[in-house]
Amino acid sequence: MKTTIIGYPRIGCGRELKKATENYFQNKISPENLNEQAKSLRKIHWEKQISKGIDLPVSNDFSFYDTLLDTALLFGLIPERFTVLPQDPLIRTFAMARGYKKDGYQASALAMKKWFTTNYHYMVPEVDESSSIGLSGHKPLTEFREALSAGFLTRPMLTGPYTLLRLTRFSGETSAVKCAQRLIPAYAQLLSALGAAGAKWVQLDEPCLCLDMDASEKAFFHSLYQRLGEKNPGVKIQLQTAFGDITQVYDSLSSLPVQAIGLDFVEGQGNLLKLESDGFPEDKILVAGIVNGRNVWRNNYKKSLDIISRISKHLPAERIWLSPSCSLLHLPYSLGPETGLSPELRDILAFAEEKMEELGELSILSAENKPENHPIFLRNQQRFEQAEKIPGRILPEVRNRTSFLRDQSFLRMPDAEARKSCQQNRLNLPPFPTTSIGSFPQTAEIRAMRRLYRKGEVKLSEYEAFLRKRTEECVKLQDDMGLDVLVHGEFERNDMVEYFGEQLDGFIFTENAWVQSYGTRCVKPPILMGDVRRPCPMTVDTWRFAAGCTKKPVKGMLTGPVTILNWSFVRDDVENTECLLQLALAIREEVLDLEAAGCAIIQIDEAALREKLPLKKKDWKSYLDNAVNAFHLCHDGVRPDTQIHTHMCYSEFGDILEAIDAMDADVITIEAARSALTLVDQLKKTPYARDIGPGVYDIHSPLIPGEEDILLRLDTLLSTLEPEQLWINPDCGLKTRSPKEAEESLKAMVNAAKKLREKY
Ligand code: GLN
Ligand code: ZN
Repeated sequence: MKTTIIGYPRIGCGRELKKATENYFQNKISPENLNEQAKSLRKIHWEKQISKGIDLPVSNDFSFYDTLLDTALLFGLIPERFTVLPQDPLIRTFAMARGYKKDGYQASALAMKKWFTTNYHYMVPEVDESSSIGLSGHKPLTEFREALSAGFLTRPMLTGPYTLLRLTRFSGETSAVKCAQRLIPAYAQLLSALGAAGAKWVQLDEPCLCLDMDASEKAFFHSLYQRLGEKNPGVKIQLQTAFGDITQVYDSLSSLPVQAIGLDFVEGQGNLLKLESDGFPEDKILVAGIVNGRNVWRNNYKKSLDIISRISKHLPAERIWLSPSCSLLHLPYSLGPETGLSPELRDILAFAEEKMEELGELSILSAENKPENHPIFLRNQQRFEQAEKIPGRILPEVRNRTSFLRDQSFLRMPDAEARKSCQQNRLNLPPFPTTSIGSFPQTAEIRAMRRLYRKGEVKLSEYEAFLRKRTEECVKLQDDMGLDVLVHGEFERNDMVEYFGEQLDGFIFTENAWVQSYGTRCVKPPILMGDVRRPCPMTVDTWRFAAGCTKKPVKGMLTGPVTILNWSFVRDDVENTECLLQLALAIREEVLDLEAAGCAIIQIDEAALREKLPLKKKDWKSYLDNAVNAFHLCHDGVRPDTQIHTHMCYSEFGDILEAIDAMDADVITIEAARSALTLVDQLKKTPYARDIGPGVYDIHSPLIPGEEDILLRLDTLLSTLEPEQLWINPDCGLKTRSPKEAEESLKAMVNAAKKLREKY
C-alpha cells in the first residue's frame, strides 16, 4: 500500500513563517524576502515527506494565511471592497485576512471562523455582485512547478468547489448556484493546466461532506462534480474528506467522476460500516485515513491493522493508499525538540513527522502475512504496554470518585428564582450591575516579567510581589471608576487553560509543539495525559488578596471543564466523558474553596463550549448533556447565596439556548456586542429568565465606545430583557486592549449604567 498525506503544517518547525510574516508586516523585510523564506520552507517540507517515506507528497498546502482564502482568491471570490487593491497576491491575501488601511482607503477583513471541530480558523469568503468569478491566479501551478523542479512530483491540493461554496457568504443577488456556473469551468481550467504541467493527481478537499446535508445539498454537490467531470480536466481527482463519516453521500460515490476518495476511518466509524456493507467503487482508489491526523498519540497498530484488514476484504492493496485522517496541519511538527519529556511519554506521542513514519510502518506491516510477529509490530505494542506504567496515567483515588459519579445527573438546589433573592440579600447590588469579564490588559511589562520569571532570572517572590502590585492597582481602578462587581485582572495567567493545566495533575506541557490557530497566531495546547487531580487550591490566594483591596465584591475566576478539555490535546486511552468528570471535580473543589474563603461570586468560563459541538445535529444531544452535567458538578455544591456566573465567547447561541439555560448559572455573560439584535431576536423566541450580560461593547475593536453608543445598545436589549435581568459588561476579557482603551471604555460603560438607572 502506498502512503500519502493530505496536508502538512506550514508555519515552520521553528515558527519561521510566523516570524518572517510578522517582520514583513512591520516592513522589516521585503516581499521578495518573505517569498524566498516561504519557498525554502516548502522545500524543507517536501524533503521531510520523502525522507519519512511518504510515496505521494502534497503541494499547495502551503499558505501565508489560510488555504480556503487562497482558493477564494484564486477563483475570484472577492468582495468589492478588495477589488480596488493592487492585484498582488500577497497584498490581497493579507488585506482580506487582516483588513486594509492605507492612503485614506479602508476595507474591513473577512470574518474568521473555526474550521470544523479543530482549533484552526479559516477566513470566510464573501461574494457580492461585483465579484468576477474565474481563474485569476496560479498559486497551485507555481507551487507544483516549484516542487517538480526541486525533484518532487506532488499532488496539488485545494479546497473543492462544494466546500468552497458552502462556506462562502453570498450577498445581493449572488448565490452558490449562480456562482457555480463560472466556478466549475475555472476549476476545470486550473486542473487542465496542472495536468499539462505534469501533475497526475489533484486533491480536492471536501470536508463539508461531513456536515448535515439535505436532499438539495446532495444534489448540488453531485451536480458540481458531474459538471467538472464533463469538462474532462485531464488529471485524476482525489476527493478528500475529513472530520467524520460521509455516510449520507456514500451510496452515490461510485457515480462521481473522481478517481480516488479519501475517507476518515478514525472519527468516521460510519465510513467503515458502509464500506463493509456496500463495498467500495471498483474503479477508484481508497485513501484510507487510519492514522489520527489531529491528536498527538501514537497509533496502536493492532487497531489500525484490524481496520486495514477489514478494508482489504473489499479492495486490493494496489487500490489502497494509507493516509492520516486529516491534514497534519493540526499537529506540531516533531517530537525532536521535546527533550524535556520523559522517555516513556515520548514513546507514546507522535507529532506530524512521527505520524508519517507510522504510515510507512503500517504499509510494511500490511504486506506481511503474519504482521503480529514483525519487530515493528512488537515494538509498537511494547510502547502501549509501557504506557500503562507511566506514573499518573491512572489514579485509583480519582477513579474511585468518578465511578460513584458515573451516570448521575447533578442539580443545584434550590432553583434559580429562589437563589436570586438570597443572592440579592447578600450582595445588595444596584439595578443594572456593572462588571467585566475577567482579564485586564496584559501589557508588554507583564509579559516581559513572566518571561524573566520562567527563565529563572526573576525570583518567585519578586514575580509574586509584582503581580500583587498590578492586581491591587487594577482593583483600585475599578473601585474608583464605580464598577459594582470587580475582578482581580488575571495578570498571573498567560492563558486561561494553560494556567489551570499547569496547576492540575494530569497535564504535560511541551517546549516547541506549536500549532497554527490562524494567520501567524500559534497555540501550544497542553496535553492531557493522565488522571486529573487538584493537588492544592489554585486561585484562592490571589482572590483573597484582591478581595482585601476593596469593600466591593470580587469575582473568583475559573475556567470550566469543557473549555479546558476542548483546548487541550485529549487522551485516547480514556473516554472524554471520564476526563470531563475528573476536570469538573477539580473545578468543583476550587469553587468550594473559594466559597469557604468568603467569595460570593464565582465565574466559571465556558468559552469553548460551543465550538466542539459535533458536526452532525444527531450527535449534539449527548455532547451537550455531558457538558451541562459537568458544569453542574462544578457548582451544585455551593450555597444558595453564592452567585455563579459563566461567560461564553459567542453570540450565535439560539440553537443551544436550552443547554445554556440548563447549565443553571445565575448570571451569564456572552459575546454579543456585535450582534445584539440577533440576540434580542433569539431571546424573544425563547424567554430567558436568568440574569444576563450580553456585552455592551466590542472588546476586539480598538475603538472606544461612547456613552451614547452604550445607552443605545442598552435600549435595544431592554426591548426584550426585563430590567431586573440585565447586567452591563464588555463582551469579553480586556487582555488584548491597551490600559487606556480598557479604562476609557469601562468609564463610558459605568456612566451609561448610571444614566440608565436614573431612567428606571
Ligand atoms: N475570563 C477570561 C478573560 O477575561 C475569559 C476569556 C474568554 O472568554 N476567552 O480573559
Ligand atoms: Zn469571551
